[in-house]
Amino acid sequence: MAISWWRGLRSAAVDLVYPPHCPGCGCSAHVPDLCPTCLTQLWACEKPCCQKCGEAYLPEGAGTFVCQTCQGRDFFFDYAVSPYQSRGVLRELIHRFKYQRHLFLGPLLGSLLVDVLQDERIVDLRQDWVAVPVPLHARRYREREFNQALELCRELQERSGIPYVNALKRTRYTSSQTRYRREQRMENLRGAFVPRRWKVGHVAGRTVALVDDVFTTGSTANECARVLLASGAKKVVVITLARG
Ligand SMILES: [Zn+2]
Ligand SMILES: [Zn+2]
Repeated sequence: MAISWWRGLRSAAVDLVYPPHCPGCGCSAHVPDLCPTCLTQLWACEKPCCQKCGEAYLPEGAGTFVCQTCQGRDFFFDYAVSPYQSRGVLRELIHRFKYQRHLFLGPLLGSLLVDVLQDERIVDLRQDWVAVPVPLHARRYREREFNQALELCRELQERSGIPYVNALKRTRYTSSQTRYRREQRMENLRGAFVPRRWKVGHVAGRTVALVDDVFTTGSTANECARVLLASGAKKVVVITLARG
């Protein structure tokens, strides 16, 4: 672990001396964030999208609606909202951030995450909010050495003033959930999260913005939201950088 920590520090130092160009494609455009080509590969979650899970749809049926997957499904969170779809350059950036420890991408991803605050459902409610990251299990945290959701919370706080509290703990190590059906996933996750005793008091009576990198099926977010409501949160809204 010490060696990879040192490598991370060394590569961060190299980045400082020789600043990378576009973090998306590596081209030599002198831009602070993404180059114009990469910007065209960012796919916004534009309306119409499901009012519950944020899934984007082709702009045929106008107005607000709830998608078929969400109909007849009771979520503990009010709704999930993401500024972008998980595809193209953003999907790659998130992958590099998470699995290749490209931590220097944190500020860029943070700047993209705050685009979510443009959503009109969020604008008025920001005052009494507190953000909570979806936690990693301690074993996965040891493997990865950081929690991408916590890093995004830090960025969010810095850019918007919304404070965060690491209020949840993941007690059960679950392998990749993707091969399970939705019902099995929910069952698997039951009891996987518990409140952190000294932190959870901060969510009582507050609106919680549950933060993660990607929203896919909503099973993880839903179980976290259940625990947060049981811990006294007024309501839970899910904010992710991308919609899978
Ligand atoms: Zn680029
Ligand atoms: Zn939906």
